Amino acid sequence: MARRIPEPFRIKMVEPIHQTTPEYRRQALDAAGWNPFLLHGDDVYIDLLTDSGTGAMSDRQWAGLMMGDESYAGSRNFYHLEQTVREVFGYQHVMPTHQGRGAEQILFPELVKRVKGSAPVFFSNYHFDTTKAHVEMAGARAQNLLTPAALDTQKAYDWKGDFDVEGLKSAITAHGPDNVAGVIVTITCNSAGGQPVSMGNIREVSRLARQHGIPVILDAARFAENAWFIKHRDRDYANAEIGDIVREMFGYGDIFTMSAKKDGLVNIGGLCCFRDNLDLFRAVQVRCVAMEGFVTYGGLAGRDMEALAIGLKEGMDHGYLSYRIAQVAYLGERLAQGGVPIQTPTGGHAVFVDAKRMLPHIPAHQFPAHALACELYLEGGIRGVEIGSLLLGRNPVTGEQEPSDLELLRLTIPRRVYTNDHMDYIADCLIDLNARANSIRGLTFEYEPPILRHFTARLKQV
Ligand SMILES: *Cc1c(COP(=O)(O)O)cnc(C)c1O
Repeated sequence: MARRIPEPFRIKMVEPIHQTTPEYRRQALDAAGWNPFLLHGDDVYIDLLTDSGTGAMSDRQWAGLMMGDESYAGSRNFYHLEQTVREVFGYQHVMPTHQGRGAEQILFPELVKRVKGSAPVFFSNYHFDTTKAHVEMAGARAQNLLTPAALDTQKAYDWKGDFDVEGLKSAITAHGPDNVAGVIVTITCNSAGGQPVSMGNIREVSRLARQHGIPVILDAARFAENAWFIKHRDRDYANAEIGDIVREMFGYGDIFTMSAKKDGLVNIGGLCCFRDNLDLFRAVQVRCVAMEGFVTYGGLAGRDMEALAIGLKEGMDHGYLSYRIAQVAYLGERLAQGGVPIQTPTGGHAVFVDAKRMLPHIPAHQFPAHALACELYLEGGIRGVEIGSLLLGRNPVTGEQEPSDLELLRLTIPRRVYTNDHMDYIADCLIDLNARANSIRGLTFEYEPPILRHFTARLKQV
């Protein structure tokens, strides 16, 4: 058996967490309307809601905070960040933003403005939910063109984040290149389960887009994890450095937006950067000043920019990435061995439990994956999140609840926060739940908000 990779850090400061009793958790869940989003963080023992902004910073990053230069304009930390971005990604024009969606809100309206046609559209392997929201708020449509291989959770396939290239070709023809405001390459593909996009696919998508004069935007929240997968799954890159792979990936893009709360290893921050398009950069800078903050801070404190400049490089360390992705895979293996159906292979940042398979007696309109999330909280104080019919919402035209293709419980692993013992505990709780899966009941609404309902909905057991 392969040796497990221990945590590549030792612990210098601890944050105590507390287990609660089953009775306490039932009360807390009742009070939260059977919606784990509405739980108090203190009532959660192990929090797998998201990997966004939940990571642990290193001693070097904490030291960096102390070197914050809080000048309103021209903070030294901005210049450190700018220099780091140029060196790591090869992009000249750098704008910090308060987080990923800050970059989206200032970029997309400018891209839509530059479209010649009258029906602007963005294509992506998969638009992240805020990305889709900002595309639509900018007056464009968002169309996903994900490889069909991603839909079969049981099928082993290395590149479930890939674009459907043939689909992209037809879509460009169908809409007309003059209407395409941009092609957004999401690395790794969050919504498909943190699944990687292959270098060949990025290259081909970029070639197609450039042939038609369409800008290529990398949605780069998990760029380092994607690079690790390329190194370990594509023989051509087995001997390449992570840094070289990152450079090549970004070479196929023109612009990148980044939520730095993931691979950037900070609790808050984002980036909007341009390889060489100075005109576009300047136009977006104007929006930045109005919406995020002056162009050398973009809504961040100087100290936050320092932590990010350091985190971008730490996040690309091969030893760290190997441990990180192995930890996610380890949780997946434990679950699979215990008979819990999961999406295979596991992605970079999360394990997805296939609730449709685990709870076949619960129909889509009773939200099997959300019911499972609630039971996992009751069982072990663990908070995961539903990615399924509750998240999907009703059909806006008919008002019907249509079943989602997938009913998944996402267990998102924060970076450098939990040990492999925590992974064992999570696996043990889910394996016990699986043994009594028949007894888990579906849920129905007590309060259903009109939009973005998974954040604030209240439910009860049927
Ligand atoms: C998190 C994320 C975003 C949005 O970033 P925020 O920092 O949450 O605003 C955009 N795209 C992807 C792929 C993400 O994972």
